[in-house]
Amino acid sequence: SKAWHLIRRPQGLPSRDDFALRELPDEPLEADQLRIRNLWLSVDPYMRGRMNDAKSYAAGFQLDQPMTGGAIGEVLESRMEGFAPGDLILHMGGWRDGGIIGLDMMPNRLPADLLATGLSPQTFLHNMGLTGGTAWIGLLRIAAARPGDTVFVSAAAGAVGSAVVQIAKAREMTVIGSAGGAEKGRWVDDLGADAVIDYKAGPVLPQLAAALERLGKPGIDVYFDNVGGEHLDAAFATANDFARFAICGMIDVYNDGKAQEMSYLVRTIPARIRMEGFIYTDQFIDCAEEFYADMGGLIASGAVLMRETVRDGLDAAPDAFLGLFSGENIGKMLVRL
Ligand code: NDP
Repeated sequence: SKAWHLIRRPQGLPSRDDFALRELPDEPLEADQLRIRNLWLSVDPYMRGRMNDAKSYAAGFQLDQPMTGGAIGEVLESRMEGFAPGDLILHMGGWRDGGIIGLDMMPNRLPADLLATGLSPQTFLHNMGLTGGTAWIGLLRIAAARPGDTVFVSAAAGAVGSAVVQIAKAREMTVIGSAGGAEKGRWVDDLGADAVIDYKAGPVLPQLAAALERLGKPGIDVYFDNVGGEHLDAAFATANDFARFAICGMIDVYNDGKAQEMSYLVRTIPARIRMEGFIYTDQFIDCAEEFYADMGGLIASGAVLMRETVRDGLDAAPDAFLGLFSGENIGKMLVRL
């Protein structure tokens, strides 16, 4: 068997020279190992991150080692409990045609009852697996999308995005999908999206705004982000109050080290950061009593110090205000009359 090895850490867009196909040793099976032949390999955008020498949620690829990734294989020989020759498995020993895998490749038998319904094995690499699961969780759990919501999804013609469009349509949401090019647009339209944006034909925001207007919607309730960058910005621009954003991917920056250095927004994903805008007045009434007691105690005990920057006279008011933007204040900026 052979496997792709990463032989060099790519700078920017990876190139073929970063990878080498190398022979795997053919050895007798040890306990808790399977000999397999792979049927389907998954390639996923997150793998780009694994090619960097940086810590992330998925361990980085080691140089000169076989790469790994989602795959569907058939068991040829088993010394692992629960597996027998002929079993179809989902596992992480991808990027190779087969060979020996152990428990670290997380083999799981494909559910026979589901295969019996006619699902193809490779479905477990997409709609019944990583990408469909990501779409489902992101849309329904993370963004808590509900019937009636207006959902915007980027990379809508891709694996995750196309599942998002369809799950949302099945739950009676209005869906606007963005994809690059007319052909992809037609596919997103075929999936049932209410409006389609071609981000390669022009800037995203004007197209998104026009789509919302056509649909008679004031803005978006949910943004499912696969792309980041301009799409994310357009989503912010059109978000309704209490909109929910599921930040799934930012493929726009995966090959752009510079952009990743300039903006750490992409860390939302590996660090599972939850963002939520809020307004003080929404919350305050409910917690005023608790707040006064707690903060009063902290101030009284000296745990919370107060500092003021004071400008005198009403005339000073505009400058005091503008001073906030040039950082003239330490502590609270106040105008004393
Ligand atoms: P896709 O099938 O969507 O393939 C990627 C697509 O992204 C391409 O087809 C392309 O479509 C689009 N694309 C590529 N570069 C750009 C760019 N610069 N600007 C805009 N669009 C671009 O891949 P997946 O469905 O597997 O993944 C989609 C996203 O979901 C990725 O960001 C991925 O990292 C993320 N993901 C996150 C997971 C998680 O657990 N958080 C799990 C799985 C995926 P087009 O022609 O329309 O440009």
